[in-house]
Amino acid sequence: MIAGSAVASTLSDDRAESLARDALAAMERFQIAPTPMNFTVWFAYHQGANRDLVAEIERYIARGEAFSQELCLKLYGKYFDTDKERDQVLVASHRIETAVGQVLSRLGEAGRDNEQHGERLASISGNLDEDQSQDVLRSLITTLSDEVRHMARRNTQLAEAIYSSTQEISDLRNHLQDVRKQGLTDGLTQVANRRAFDIRLGEAIQEAKALQNTFTLVMADVDHFKKFNDSYGHQMGDEVLKIVGKIMTHRLKEDDFVARYGGEEFSVILPDTKLVDGQAVAERLRSALAGKRLRNRRTGDDFGRVTLSLGVTHYVPGDTAQTVIERADKALYQAKREGRNRVACQQPSRETPQTFAA
Ligand code: GH3
Ligand code: MG
Ligand code: MG
Repeated sequence: MIAGSAVASTLSDDRAESLARDALAAMERFQIAPTPMNFTVWFAYHQGANRDLVAEIERYIARGEAFSQELCLKLYGKYFDTDKERDQVLVASHRIETAVGQVLSRLGEAGRDNEQHGERLASISGNLDEDQSQDVLRSLITTLSDEVRHMARRNTQLAEAIYSSTQEISDLRNHLQDVRKQGLTDGLTQVANRRAFDIRLGEAIQEAKALQNTFTLVMADVDHFKKFNDSYGHQMGDEVLKIVGKIMTHRLKEDDFVARYGGEEFSVILPDTKLVDGQAVAERLRSALAGKRLRNRRTGDDFGRVTLSLGVTHYVPGDTAQTVIERADKALYQAKREGRNRVACQQPSRETPQTFAA
């Protein structure tokens, strides 16, 4: 959800004023701190343009949940603060630029210093050529040792400065890697997110083309999850999604890739895997979840079993990301139609070329 679509941009003054009043009244009623962030959320709630935001807030109201500062921040972060990652990257790259600039300017200074040092040594050695008195020689040696000491000091300073700059660069590089990882990870389940999936699927298609092999795509959707949420609450639903993510991660090989595709839907890419083998993997994932009784460890409450429907297809030359996803989705809906808690497969249609053309 991008910020621009969370709040519709064209509003009459009267309507904006009335929404602002409603937002402030609600914030007072729910004892929410009157910050610009919170105002943004509650203005958008009253405007109603973002149905997900409205539904989420209404769920909290229905449950009588307190709008703690933490919850308010979560709502703002989820629906409005989508550029956090970009900002962090910009700040870090600016700092890296500065650190690299410092290293370069220090290296430049060192180069100039070295040149002058060379010139001074040359003039000392030029003086040495002539027949010099002892006093002049002594003074030349003093100049020489001063020069050497000066250079040694400069070299130490330079080494320290470069060390601290490279340290800063390496810290920033790690920080950027973390930011990048966060941007590709689903916050709730800690598996890859939709963005990472789109990237990986593109790579899988390129790999299959280059290696002239295939991969399997699995789309998995939790069955009757709305009912689960309605019976046990959204938070317990979130716990179920975490469990599904864990089961998938643990049952798959290292090269396989699992992502939260959205909501209660997960997607799996199995590289270099034919449809029949992919189907067996999907069946393993299905039975792993279906065989688990879910309990709340703290209260001992039993939530029974949660099941998955899975749709499986494999890549054929001529497929794009869209066609292969559409086919896996079609298989998923077939699994739902045929009764859920099952795996269904979709073969590519005959129009899609099946030969591995170069
Ligand atoms: P079906 O078997 O046909 O898939 O039924 P369903 O109820 O799972 O499907 P439906 O699309 O009707 O509802 C999906 C539900 O998933 C509703 C939505 O609130 C819930 N959901 C989506 N994302 C989350 C989430 O992050 N946490 C929780 N707890 N629930 C979620
Ligand atoms: Mg579902
Ligand atoms: Mg769904």
